[in-house]
Amino acid sequence: QPPKTTFRRVMLKISGEALMGDQGFGLHPPTVQRIAEEVKSVHDMGVEICMVIGGGNIFRGLQGSAQGMERTTADYMGMLATVMNALAMQGALEALGVHTRVISAIPMDQVCEPYIRRRAVRHLEKKRVCIFAAGTGNPYFTTDTAATLRANEMACEAIFKGTKVDGVYDKDPKKFDDATRYDTITYDDVLQQHLGVMDASAIALARDNNLPIIVFSLDEPGGFRGILAGEGTYTKVH
Ligand code: UDP
Repeated sequence: QPPKTTFRRVMLKISGEALMGDQGFGLHPPTVQRIAEEVKSVHDMGVEICMVIGGGNIFRGLQGSAQGMERTTADYMGMLATVMNALAMQGALEALGVHTRVISAIPMDQVCEPYIRRRAVRHLEKKRVCIFAAGTGNPYFTTDTAATLRANEMACEAIFKGTKVDGVYDKDPKKFDDATRYDTITYDDVLQQHLGVMDASAIALARDNNLPIIVFSLDEPGGFRGILAGEGTYTKVH
């Protein structure tokens, strides 16, 4: 019997790097599978799940433009990278028997579905995991903003941001022993203190729509499910 949760529909945002394991680049299939298992365990609780996966393990717009590429071109390449990650996650979820749709902000009908809001909502109602790919479809944005946008459109109750640490700290806990974790923090404090939770436009979009952001560790096995059941440590940005 899976543990109980009060959440009915959530957004899970993970970075592309979460899928690369220790490789430093690209996709690490066992890691993709492990995260798919985390998602399945929450799906088994009856929660409707939206996902946005970054692309930083394959390509980042800013990096490309730093090397002389036009920023918009580099950003489109970054968006395409997120589609590859989404397809990898879809494959892993479906191998576990979880019906999944990849929905792209940039139509590419042979590869995945185009984004049509009502259609995506219907998928969720039918308990299909929806992976939103290609970010917002616009350059100069990030997948954090895409996750916040889609979470609002899909009426998710919260964004779960899976990271390497179990919440938001006043300084980098991997570098400073005396870093302290916030149980809760306001959107404005995150912005004013430049805490690297998500980029500023994503935080502002969440704030303006009262969408809580729950920052938790994805490295903890069973972490996602535990957080949804109200266990473990995390930071709630509200
Ligand atoms: N990107 C974009 N518009 C969007 C989302 C993403 O242009 O709406 C591009 C941008 O270049 C970004 C890249 O896609 O660097 C990969 O996304 P992101 O850096 O957010 O991935 P993450 O850091 O989460 O892996």
